[in-house]
Amino acid sequence: ILGLVRSYEQLKFKEEQPGKASIEKEKEIPLESKVALITGGASGIGEAAARLFLEHGARVVIADVQDDLAHQLVASLTDYSGNICYHRCDVRDEKQVEDAVSHTVTKYGSLDILFSNAGIMGPMTALLDMDLDAFDNTMAVNVRGVAATIKHAARAMVAKKTPGSIICTASVAASIGGAGPHAYTTSKHAMIGLMRTACKELGAYGIRVNCISPFGVGTPLSCAAYNVEASQVEANCSAIGNLKGVVLKANHVAEAALFLASDESVYVSGQNLGVDGGFTVVSGSYSVS
Ligand code: NAD
Repeated sequence: ILGLVRSYEQLKFKEEQPGKASIEKEKEIPLESKVALITGGASGIGEAAARLFLEHGARVVIADVQDDLAHQLVASLTDYSGNICYHRCDVRDEKQVEDAVSHTVTKYGSLDILFSNAGIMGPMTALLDMDLDAFDNTMAVNVRGVAATIKHAARAMVAKKTPGSIICTASVAASIGGAGPHAYTTSKHAMIGLMRTACKELGAYGIRVNCISPFGVGTPLSCAAYNVEASQVEANCSAIGNLKGVVLKANHVAEAALFLASDESVYVSGQNLGVDGGFTVVSGSYSVS
């Protein structure tokens, strides 16, 4: 009888430790009850993140301009129907961004995670031949679009007192020159500045802001830019990459986004997390051995 009483007391003690219980639960389902808005969610890294976030308990709104692809993706995720939807949004248009945010809050009740990931490679031409309209368009998607998403997502988070997480997809081209075309490199460098200044202002509201900077991934963006298959992008990147034996996939980048989205990174803000196998760190180095 004494043994039974002790077991009961232990059980009660465990139940009375809500902190402990919630930590264990959180580890199991890191994004449980969280709502995420993912721009560029119909393809590539955004699609991989949408799938991963769903698997980890989130409800997801994907915002994109590729209607057919996005509808196909949502329809294919039958295990998660009701937890994912598509909202058309061209991030260059502030009104559409505002609508995407309010659609998210209306549909799922809050906005906890913004993955501002939509981006384009822009013109591949030499600087001497630069088309400035194409330059402007790259900045409109990759910088203005990200600024608009941060602005409206942060407003929604502040209004609901949500300790949200904002993640933007930058690139190795955000840190070094020559890893991407001119407009793209300019836009991704600017994104780091935007992330840092947003981190400063939004920290007061408990909102974290970070970037992820991937090395080359075989997605429609990189395939179209270099006019090659995904396998060729991967082969080229593996050849010049620093970390051997691993081929970078969209899912690896999504895993980094999951970390920054979850409470596992609860005190991480203002960082540019490289998912580049050390490429940017060793860039320009020479062998000493
Ligand atoms: P992707 O082409 O597969 O996905 C990009 C998505 O963004 C597409 O679905 C596209 O429709 C969407 N998009 C483009 N313009 C938009 C707009 N105006 N409004 C809304 N959505 C728009 O390419 P990806 O490689 O998955 O790119 C995702 C992000 O990753 C981009 O920001 C890109 O710069 C970045 N990135 C990619 C690589 C790479 O090698 N693939 C490397 C580093 C960083």
